[in-house]
Amino acid sequence: MNKATTKLLTELRKDGDFNATACINCGTCTGLCPHGLDILPRELFRYVILGLEDKVEANIETIYSCLLCKMCEANCPGDVNITANIRTLRNYINRKHFKI
Ligand code: SF4
Ligand code: SF4
Repeated sequence: MNKATTKLLTELRKDGDFNATACINCGTCTGLCPHGLDILPRELFRYVILGLEDKVEANIETIYSCLLCKMCEANCPGDVNITANIRTLRNYINRKHFKI
């Protein structure tokens, strides 16, 4: 784990577990998302794990587009807390970018 990863995950985990490392990259979430969010959660969570903050920032609109419907989460074989992770990401962006 590199320093950037530790820093980003440490910041995110002020709000919750952010258990994205449980993702096995199966693609089930992408296939089920009624909103057609093909980047959430597997790609975006991977960016977080790798500490690619610029990639996370480039997808702010997508992060806020999620309906929090849990279709992905209910069928995730990795038991990733997808909607909780998305809320955690939003809290982080609210603090860092929107200063709220
Ligand atoms: S369904 Fe779960 S395990 Fe599969 S890619 Fe999505 S987040 Fe990862
Ligand atoms: S919770 Fe978000 S990412 Fe998951 S299926 Fe619903 S809209 Fe798509």
